[in-house]
Amino acid sequence: MLSHVPSLRYGCLWITLLFISGASCYPPGPIQARLATRGSRVGALQFRQGIVKEKYDNQEKRRISNIMGEIEAILDDKHGLRSSNDSNDVEFDGVLEGDLVINERQAKWMLQAFNTRQKRKLIDNEELRWNISTPIPYLFNPEDFNENEKGIIRWAINHWEQETCIRFKDMGPVVYYTDYILFYKGKGCSSEVGRNGQTQISLNVICISKQIVAHEIGHSLGFWHEQARQDRDDYLDVLWENIQPGKTYNFLTHQTITNDVPYDMSSLMHYLGTDFSKTYPDMLTLKSRDGFLQQVMGGAEKLSFYDAKTANIEYCKDSCRNTKLRRPCEHDSYQDPNDCYSCKCPEGFGGTYCNTAAFSVGGADFAADDRHHMQWR
Ligand SMILES: [Zn+2]
Repeated sequence: MLSHVPSLRYGCLWITLLFISGASCYPPGPIQARLATRGSRVGALQFRQGIVKEKYDNQEKRRISNIMGEIEAILDDKHGLRSSNDSNDVEFDGVLEGDLVINERQAKWMLQAFNTRQKRKLIDNEELRWNISTPIPYLFNPEDFNENEKGIIRWAINHWEQETCIRFKDMGPVVYYTDYILFYKGKGCSSEVGRNGQTQISLNVICISKQIVAHEIGHSLGFWHEQARQDRDDYLDVLWENIQPGKTYNFLTHQTITNDVPYDMSSLMHYLGTDFSKTYPDMLTLKSRDGFLQQVMGGAEKLSFYDAKTANIEYCKDSCRNTKLRRPCEHDSYQDPNDCYSCKCPEGFGGTYCNTAAFSVGGADFAADDRHHMQWR
């Protein structure tokens, strides 16, 4: 049974677990040891009904749980939380870090990286990544969502499209691709990490918000939580003693897609500072080294500049290969894959090359060097 009820302002895990008692928030089913050929089209005649497949059976789920138990025992021992290394103490409810549906292979990757402290890349992002030469197909589980809910899901999809070169395509009632995203109304908010055949995103009615859906889509694209980055300890302290017993495995660092983008406390993929605390929401589990950023942590309402940059480096490297800018992009900006003739600027900067300060007028941002023609940003 879950005794911990995290409740982030935005995101998934907090709400994910709200109404779940012991059961995972996704349907069990077999682990796909071999991932399907990425993004491959299997012939127009091979239709697949848009219904949720069973992906994990109980045995596989137990094996993943045992791996989490091993991680938990090591972490607890390392931080002096328990004298016993009894892996049975772990409270693994089927989702890692509150909303990640991982397969056995991913769980093994984590344990291996943790045990060996290898710096080399263990997780091959290529396996998780989608082929975006064509839009990523998606569909809604039949009769799961009303039009209002679909509208919010589409907003989140559109948000990713506006910020990156990634495109999605509503397949209607059937899909004829091997790899596609299925939105369904499960018991909580969760997503698989990366492309995985029928990549399932569960959205309970309590998860239908722009932030949560955009966050879950991020996972489906292969992104993990920001605080799982291997450099997170340079920016925050994990208060291990404040974490609920049996839940420390959720605070493991592991290999994530970072693309050398700076750690970002304002990432849409970041936990709140109080998640998994013994007395949520009064107790911190993540304490920012920079006190000012404590309130920023986990409160994102949309993709941050660095979220989009990470995704664009991962997926959109070739988008502007035929367009060369006259000058380099400045202030950490980069060639905008949705507008190859300009740079994509962080907040506060504007102009074609993000070399000028932006200012706001009536809620709209203008670049300082655009004042004469008031170019909208
Ligand atoms: Zn998440």
